[in-house]
Amino acid sequence: MTTLLAPERASLSRLHAPTLCTLTDAVAENLHRVRAVTTVPIMAVVKADGYGHGAVTVARAAVAAGAEWLGVTDVAEAVMLREAGLTVPILSWLNPSGIDAEAAAVHRVDIAVGSVEELGQLIADAADPLRVHLQLDTGMTRGGCPLDEWPELFRRARLGRGRIEVVGVMGHLPRADEGDPAANAAAVLRMRQGRDAVLRAGLGPVLVHLAATSGALTDPATHFGMVRIGAGLVGIDPSETTALVGASRWTAPVVHSALVPAGTAVGYGAAHLTDRETHLSVVGVGYADGIPRELASGAGVEIDGVRHPIVGRVSMDQIVVDTGSAHLPRGAVATVFGPGGGAVPSVQEWARWAGTIPHTVVTGIGTRVQRSVA
Ligand SMILES: *Cc1c(COP(=O)(O)O)cnc(C)c1O
Repeated sequence: MTTLLAPERASLSRLHAPTLCTLTDAVAENLHRVRAVTTVPIMAVVKADGYGHGAVTVARAAVAAGAEWLGVTDVAEAVMLREAGLTVPILSWLNPSGIDAEAAAVHRVDIAVGSVEELGQLIADAADPLRVHLQLDTGMTRGGCPLDEWPELFRRARLGRGRIEVVGVMGHLPRADEGDPAANAAAVLRMRQGRDAVLRAGLGPVLVHLAATSGALTDPATHFGMVRIGAGLVGIDPSETTALVGASRWTAPVVHSALVPAGTAVGYGAAHLTDRETHLSVVGVGYADGIPRELASGAGVEIDGVRHPIVGRVSMDQIVVDTGSAHLPRGAVATVFGPGGGAVPSVQEWARWAGTIPHTVVTGIGTRVQRSVA
C-alpha cells in the first residue's frame, strides 16, 4: 500500500474509472424484437435518464432503429431531447413540476393530462395551441382520470378547443407483467370505452395507446395505435417471456488485492470470516454508486472471465470480492453487470440478489459512475 502513496507512482496509477457503458446496438436489437411482435408505431420511453442509460443516448439509438415517438415524464426532459436534435413527436406525461405550456408549444411537445383540474390549468395557460393526450385511469388508480370524471374531462376538452387539440387518449396496464391476457381484459375494455366516449364527444380522431413493454410483448389486444417501450429498450422484460439484450456494461477497478489467512474478518460488522487462506480484492464501487446494500449470498462480479463472490457488507464506496487463488493487479477490471452471460452477471441476477426488480438496479446507478457509449 505504501508504494501506492509514493508521489512518483501517483501519476502512473490511473485506473479504469467506474463506468457504465451504454450499448446502443443492444438498444437497437431490443427495438427490433418489439417491432417483430407488433404492427403499430413504437414510442421509446426514455424517462429517468433513459432508465439510467442516458436519455439522449437511448433516444438516438431507438429512433435510428425506427422508433416513431419518444416519451418522457417532464417537459424539461423533452426539451433536452429536442436540443439534442431529436425531431420525432414527443409526449410528456405526469409532469411533476407542472407544465411549462410555452416550452411545450415552442418545442412541439405533446402533453398528457390525467385530471379535470390539470386539463383546466393547461387550457388556462396555453397561449399557443397545445397537442393533448387524455390519460384515463384504466385500472391503475395511480394516474389518469377516474372513470366517473371522464364526462367532465371530455366536456372541458371540447370547450378548450382552439387552445388545446386532443390528439390522443392513453391508459396504462396494471398487471401486464403477469404475461396473461386475461389480466389485461378489464383495462382493454376501459380503453375501448374511453376511446369511444372521446369520439362521441367529437374529439377525434385520436391516437390510442395503452401498452408498455409487457403488454407489447405478451398481448396484442393491448396494442391499439401505439406501444410505449421503456424497460424493453434497455433489456428488461417485466413479463420475463422474451429474451432481450442487456444494454449496458458496468465496470469498476480492483483497487487493492491481498492474500489473507483463514478466519480473517471482512468489512463492517465483521459480517464475513474467510473460511480458508484466500485473496480478497477491493472493487471501487459501493452503495453510493448503486450497488444494493441488501444482497443475498451468491452475489458476485466477473473478473478475467471468472465469477467471484462478494463477501462482507457492501460499503458506501467499495465491495470486497473473494478471488481465491487469484492475486489481481491493482487496476484489474471487474464487471458488475453486462450482457453476454457466462461469468458476467446480468441486471436480472442483481435484482434477484437484492430482492428487487431490474428497473431499480439500472435507475439507481450513482452520478459518480462515469458514463460512456459504445
Ligand atoms: C414508464 C412508463 C412506460 C414504459 O413502461 P415499461 O414497462 O418500462 O416499458 C409506459 N407508459 C407509462 C405511462 C409509463 O409511465
